[in-house]
Amino acid sequence: MAVKRLLYYPEDETRLRQVSRRVSNVKNKRLKRLIQDLKDTLESQPGAAIAAPQIGSLRRVTVVKFGQNDDADEEPMLTLINPEIIEAGADETGFDGCLSIPEVYTWDTPRPSWIRFRATGEDGGEIVRRVEGMDARVIHHEIDHLDGRLFLDRLQDKDELYTPMPAENGKTKMVRLIDLPRMS
Ligand SMILES: [Zn+2]
Repeated sequence: MAVKRLLYYPEDETRLRQVSRRVSNVKNKRLKRLIQDLKDTLESQPGAAIAAPQIGSLRRVTVVKFGQNDDADEEPMLTLINPEIIEAGADETGFDGCLSIPEVYTWDTPRPSWIRFRATGEDGGEIVRRVEGMDARVIHHEIDHLDGRLFLDRLQDKDELYTPMPAENGKTKMVRLIDLPRMS
């Protein structure tokens, strides 16, 4: 229906930090519109997932593309309403990035190595699934958004943030934010 404007850190931080409320009526017309807006907006972006608060709607809805592990094929978009973690494996540190924090990446966010979750699908049916690796990181990151949490909050070392910069050989290299030349 429409590509929406994303909320960004830090300018929209107050709104990104709010907790989203549960969806009670899955057949609601406004919810259908929200889901389509999430899909259209994700389609226009390089990310693997998007959560409703990122387009300014404080509802517990996310659209994800699983299949983000190296050996997997990316799956079609999947809508998860009221997603909840049932069970999770031990934390491991790994990659993170966020559409609301563009061009900033880390390899240092602790998140569960696998997750079993429950959610309601677009058609009102129950989804129960176990995902691991990057897919577990993705769903965990999105549920964080629904709780008003950003990946920066989970970093033990705030210096472990990188941004791509042009390298001498015409490629790009990852440079730590703290090592960037300061504007004065
Ligand atoms: Zn995010």
